[in-house]
Amino acid sequence: MIHHADFLILGGGPTGLGAALRLEEKGIDWHLLEAEPKFGGLASSWVDEKGFTWDLGGHVQFSHYETFDRYMDLALGPDGWFSHERESWIWIRKRFVPYPFQNNLHRLDPEDREACVEGLHQAAEIQSSLYTEHRPVRRSLGEGGTPNTSRPAPNNFKEWILAAFGDGIARLFLIPYNVKVWAVPPEKMDYHWIGERVAVPNLAAVMSSIETGEDQVSWGPNRTFRFPKRGGTGAVWEALGRRLPAERVNLGARVVRIEPDRRKVTTADGRTWSYEHLISTLPLNHLIRMTPGVVDERTAARLVFSSTHVVGVGMDGAAPEHLKTKCWMYFPENNSPYYRVTVFTNYSPNNAPQPGRQWSLMTETAESPEKPVPRETLAEDTVRALVEDGLLPDRNRVVSVSHRFLPQAYPTPFLGRDAVVDPALRAFEAKGIFSRGRFGAWKYEVANQDHSFAQGYECAERLVRGGGPECEPTLFTPGVVNNRRNP
Ligand SMILES: Cc1cc2nc3c(=O)[nH]c(=O)nc-3n(C[C@H](O)[C@H](O)[C@H](O)COP(=O)(O)OP(=O)(O)OC[C@H]3O[C@@H](n4cnc5c(N)ncnc54)[C@H](O)[C@@H]3O)c2cc1C
Repeated sequence: MIHHADFLILGGGPTGLGAALRLEEKGIDWHLLEAEPKFGGLASSWVDEKGFTWDLGGHVQFSHYETFDRYMDLALGPDGWFSHERESWIWIRKRFVPYPFQNNLHRLDPEDREACVEGLHQAAEIQSSLYTEHRPVRRSLGEGGTPNTSRPAPNNFKEWILAAFGDGIARLFLIPYNVKVWAVPPEKMDYHWIGERVAVPNLAAVMSSIETGEDQVSWGPNRTFRFPKRGGTGAVWEALGRRLPAERVNLGARVVRIEPDRRKVTTADGRTWSYEHLISTLPLNHLIRMTPGVVDERTAARLVFSSTHVVGVGMDGAAPEHLKTKCWMYFPENNSPYYRVTVFTNYSPNNAPQPGRQWSLMTETAESPEKPVPRETLAEDTVRALVEDGLLPDRNRVVSVSHRFLPQAYPTPFLGRDAVVDPALRAFEAKGIFSRGRFGAWKYEVANQDHSFAQGYECAERLVRGGGPECEPTLFTPGVVNNRRNP
């Protein structure tokens, strides 16, 4: 028997749910197929054997969209959330420096501080000598920046870091950190995704913070964020999924083959579906491989991504005093496998099975073919480094160590990405398949939960109403969307 839906959605993560919720609102015939037994995709959570709740990496809610906010309130109710002031820190040279690093150089030893300041001055001088009129670095080198003079634009992310921050900060923090988080050398990455995601230096603010010695911590779009009181980030998407009519959803339905000319989708258990419109939120490399004849299979191998190991460590007792208000911390140095650690019980005490009597740290370690991770020893390496970095005062109080591997975690903004991705998306669209989402569209700059949800929502709206790419601002004009709600 062949099932039919006018709109078939593949994947029940934030993108698929954004599409489904919009189609349901519009009273359209749709159906969703999700491989896993639950909703949420990369934004889901799990409870380990000892009862600790973990996300698949540190997830915080920030939104560029009123519609997204509305759905978040709908999901858990206004009382279902804790609100937090972001406190992010960098652990470097055996001390914590608040993020953004360049605004808190007073925390460094004089030698490091001087190297960082000298580099920033050199970078600023080069900038101003290259410009007939002075323009801030963000506009001149950030996303979509159009130079008004002939200047040598950076060729890659590493050159961008050096041009914007100078040698000192680049070598001490930014290059080692980015190697650790992306697991791809920054010279192989583009920099046009940066936009709001990296705080670029303002020399006056840097110098004033050194003079006053006061920490500056306020920057960027996720200055405040909210987190579910119970169930981790996954609770949001489970709740939204449950709002959908159950008969329109198949969980545990893994798609294995798509035949675009017959408008037919087959799942691993042999069921088939016909459709008018297909919205796929599967990773684009998988979509290419399971849909023969649309995009050359070799394209799939050119899409660069990294994997992430999430190692959660649950402890008895209370977090040490210095971690009581910290949210997450960055780790550029090589003594630790992880690039980021989140004090996960600070997001919600209910992330521990005995709230208030236990606490937890969630670590993320990136892996790629260029940066292998010794998996057998990762849990032990993580605990050892947490002790070494002063985050875990007494390893005897550890009651749980839980490990999850995310094969595809970060869609790398690799050099030449758009020349690979955009023709592939167009080729699928010509066949009536709209590939959207974090790995569906492979655009890191619009790959958070709010962006992903919006990609699904906007795509559904476009297909129902008819119209072109202008109906999907998130995917096609990321700079515009990301500048909404910027400070
Ligand atoms: C380490 C990490 C940290 C992050 N931190 C944040 C953060 O702080 N804030 C934030 O907003 N976002 C964050 N994100 C991003 C967030 O997780 C994504 O934006 C979101 O999950 C992407 O949604 P999606 O629906 O596009 O993709 P996914 O969540 O990947 O969903 C795709 C779905 O498709 C399903 N699927 C795959 N193959 C098949 C198949 N063959 N058949 C059927 N179904 C299939 C999958 O099971 C999955 O459910 C983070 C992500 C990671 C990895």
